[in-house]
Amino acid sequence: MNATLLDRLQQELDDRRTTTGLRRDLVVSGPQGPTLGVAGATLVNLASNDYLGIAGDPEVLESARRALRDHGLGVTAGRVLCGTRTVHGQLEASIADLVGAEDALLYNSCFDANLGVFDALLGRDDAIISDELNHASLIDGIRLSSARRRVFAHGDLADLERCLAECADARHRLIVTDGVFSMDGDIAALPRLHELAQSYDAALLVDDSHATGVLGATGAGTAEYFGLTGGVDVLTGTLGKALGGGAGGFVAGSWAVVETLRQASRPYIFTNAMAPPLAAAAVTAIQIARGRPGLRERLAANTAWFRDALRDLGYDVLPGQHPIIPVMLRGRSLARDVAMALRDEGVLAFALSYPVVPAGEERIRVQVSAAHTAGQLEEAAAAFERVHKLVDCA
Ligand SMILES: *Cc1c(COP(=O)(O)O)cnc(C)c1O
Repeated sequence: MNATLLDRLQQELDDRRTTTGLRRDLVVSGPQGPTLGVAGATLVNLASNDYLGIAGDPEVLESARRALRDHGLGVTAGRVLCGTRTVHGQLEASIADLVGAEDALLYNSCFDANLGVFDALLGRDDAIISDELNHASLIDGIRLSSARRRVFAHGDLADLERCLAECADARHRLIVTDGVFSMDGDIAALPRLHELAQSYDAALLVDDSHATGVLGATGAGTAEYFGLTGGVDVLTGTLGKALGGGAGGFVAGSWAVVETLRQASRPYIFTNAMAPPLAAAAVTAIQIARGRPGLRERLAANTAWFRDALRDLGYDVLPGQHPIIPVMLRGRSLARDVAMALRDEGVLAFALSYPVVPAGEERIRVQVSAAHTAGQLEEAAAAFERVHKLVDCA
């Protein structure tokens, strides 16, 4: 090992250990579900993105098993070589159908989709205008494109309009936003973004990773939630959250958008195709997400109940509708202490601190699922009640 590089890495890790602390992965045993096994204990799981509670659905798992038996595990080739199977096309068609788009293209993750979409669609004469709180993968994907870049203050439509006006000379303008922002659980003001896009002849790209399957009567996402189906030009999303949680991402849009990506998007072309068992599981997960609207009703009821319970206990909860519930503690050590105390009381939820959220906005992020029983939510609320003394003493 090169000593110069080694020294620098060790130095930086030491610094990080004393400032923000080093990240340590929590090792979980057993399958994903409303409870999780951690270090021999069973915790109520308020930390996963399994919003519809179908990651462990028997039909989803059986589809994967059947595909494993019939097609094997991996295809050891890209989509453009001998990696494509019927199930990839089926999954692309069911994604397009779910979100109401002409076509869709699969990636191995939404991170990949976001890395591959901008460079393929835009060039140096174009401008990308991006919300400052957009997901890391959008930020990186935008960096990979040769288009001009502008960042607008989070949800600030006046600032967005200023950026649009500044980029009036560009060939295309593309407004980029998360549909639901993962730290605050707030929903982008799509109707206003869409209006601004119309008046400045801009296109609109929405990353609906936290919304597909979750928002809208049929689970089509943020656009459906606002009655704006068809109003988004380019939609990106994940199969790793509400849609079964296996893995995979996608871009959906008009035929020409998707065909251009098929021809030119590097993370689509230069990588191994999605393993058929994952694709088959996702097809079934989408059928369930569409076919059981009761799951979304259950999710909404669970979310409303838990939001109210936390508020009644005296917690400062950011308002909203989404199952992401930010419990504001506004102190780094307080957020960490509350998360640790919750774990001792049988609840898994994570503390988020700088640099993930701004300093002073430290919080516990709670994520509710349709799979949580009333008993599990009551148990979790009781744990929050017991740890509230930490907040009172702070
Ligand atoms: C989770 C998430 C991603 C990444 O999705 P993966 O499929 O896990 O790579 C991208 N964008 C947003 C907004 C997300 O929340």
